[in-house]
Amino acid sequence: MRICFLGSGAAEGSPAISCHCEHCDIARRKGGVLERKRGAVLFDLPDYKLLVDAPPDIRELLNSNGIKEISGIFLTHEHFDHVGGLKEFLYWNKQIDFFAEPEVFRRVAGKMLRQELNQVAFHFAFHPGVDIIFQDFSFTPFEVRHTVPCYGLIIYENSHRVVYAADTSNRLSNYSLTLIRDADVLILNTPFSQKRWIIHI
Ligand SMILES: [Zn+2]
Ligand SMILES: [Zn+2]
Repeated sequence: MRICFLGSGAAEGSPAISCHCEHCDIARRKGGVLERKRGAVLFDLPDYKLLVDAPPDIRELLNSNGIKEISGIFLTHEHFDHVGGLKEFLYWNKQIDFFAEPEVFRRVAGKMLRQELNQVAFHFAFHPGVDIIFQDFSFTPFEVRHTVPCYGLIIYENSHRVVYAADTSNRLSNYSLTLIRDADVLILNTPFSQKRWIIHI
């Protein structure tokens, strides 16, 4: 699989609007790697391109990375920096799969967006710990700790195991720790970690 990090910044992005801290001012002046987009990752899997989250700048992220194909979107949680770009997909000219836990889907897709999304997307309700199996890979969603319901995923492909979790604290269930133990690649977004990030596995 190929993993493309479209964005890896914090919720407000960097430089943040109206922020004049030293970092934002330098990022505004110099740009380049100092500019950080909100978190989104594309997993390029056998016959399937899985986008994790749709931050508000998703249109620019896809265009600037030359991505013209997405098979499905996996939604981690309801916060604006992860779903603010969903409406961009109303202009997507192909069908798209939309993986979301039922409660997250209910919270994100208000009645109107739900009807609009139905035109372009198939909602696949996932449940933590229940595998979603494709021909040549599979993934398992698992619950992480955040201020709202939030899910990571473990992708299994060709004897490799890649774990991705957005916005998680370092408090994880024993079940989740078992699944991520000895992963080949562990990708974490840890804005809520108060202490050093140590996972005891
Ligand atoms: Zn700042
Ligand atoms: Zn969040």
